[in-house]
Amino acid sequence: MILLDGKAVSAKMKERVKNEAVKLKNSGVEPALAVILVGEDKASQTYVASKEKACHACDIKSIMHRLPEQTTQSELLALIDLLNLDDSIDGILVQLPLPKHINTDKILESISPNKDVDGFHAINVGKLSSGLDGFVPCTPLGIMEILKEYDIDVSGKNACVIGRSNIVGKPMANLLLNASATVTVTHSKTKNLKEICKNSDILVAAIGKPFFVTEDMVKDGAIVIDVGINRLDDGRLVGDVDFDSVAPKCSYITPVPGGVGPMTIAMLLSNTIKSAKNRVKKA
Ligand code: NAD
Repeated sequence: MILLDGKAVSAKMKERVKNEAVKLKNSGVEPALAVILVGEDKASQTYVASKEKACHACDIKSIMHRLPEQTTQSELLALIDLLNLDDSIDGILVQLPLPKHINTDKILESISPNKDVDGFHAINVGKLSSGLDGFVPCTPLGIMEILKEYDIDVSGKNACVIGRSNIVGKPMANLLLNASATVTVTHSKTKNLKEICKNSDILVAAIGKPFFVTEDMVKDGAIVIDVGINRLDDGRLVGDVDFDSVAPKCSYITPVPGGVGPMTIAMLLSNTIKSAKNRVKKA
């Protein structure tokens, strides 16, 4: 069994990003990411702080907009409009979840698809599903990067994605399909989940339930990718896969922490660089 070291792959990616950022800066284009946080959600504050820190470490300018909880939808839309028009901004990220009085879909659709470094805009979702170049959500993109780094060819393999969220499950399925895997997307209403999993060469777990994937669900020699991040009552951070029982059966597996998690921010930075390069092409 080989442990897929997302921490190491993300460090390599961040190094690449930093080199690109310096090159762009020297040519007169400073890559810049605008991050909008509305409200006081503690987890969101932590995520935003790590994104800001990662930007600084990689020579990407980060412009933070911390807005109060009572910010109205029109105020938020007005800020996004300004950022859309600002040629010095390459990426716009609105930290989710938004307060309940704001319509998330409306906000995500208001971000210019050319600055949508999270890859959530319908245009980018459509591009991914058509196999066209666009922005791809960071977590599944990071998983593809890990697979690439370990020379794992998914072509022709049976892949099962557990979870169908817009952020992880669906884009993951599209990326695997675009890379010529045979993909089954499963979810809470799936009837024969164990059987599907057991037939899969690649198993991606994105459910949000600790220890959900057990040894009896996994094919011998499978590649198992654990997207889950679950905090147990005792404070431990665990994935969706029962690592101790599943790992001995796998050819490759991602640990939690240190697997998929670190890739998400690295790919956000990489998407920002991609956007800055597009800015250069347009100039
Ligand atoms: P979500 O709640 O939006 O989706 C969960 C999915 O799991 C749903 O599609 C649901 O149908 C499926 N599901 C629930 N119960 C099931 C069952 N019994 N059988 C089969 N499928 C079932 O969650 P999400 O946003 O996709 O996140 C999933 C997990 O990944 C969470 O733990 C989240 O914290 C983690 N996550 C990690 C990263 C990262 O950077 N590593 C990024 C995003 C999400």
